[in-house]
Amino acid sequence: MASYHFRCKDIGMSCDFRISGKSAEELLPDIAEHAKSAHGIEEIDDQLKQKVGSAIKKRIF
Ligand SMILES: [Zn+2]
Repeated sequence: MASYHFRCKDIGMSCDFRISGKSAEELLPDIAEHAKSAHGIEEIDDQLKQKVGSAIKKRIF
């Protein structure tokens, strides 16, 4: 089974937020919510989306 992990640090934020889930798509809404509440980013544009996408790491158990 695979799991997907994202850390805010991986996109250069000095922030300890981390999240994991069963798919990369599942993480995106929560990342967007965090970006908004913690970093004041109202909308994730394509550039940031790509950055986030490449920072999400897959782990297989
Ligand atoms: Zn953060």
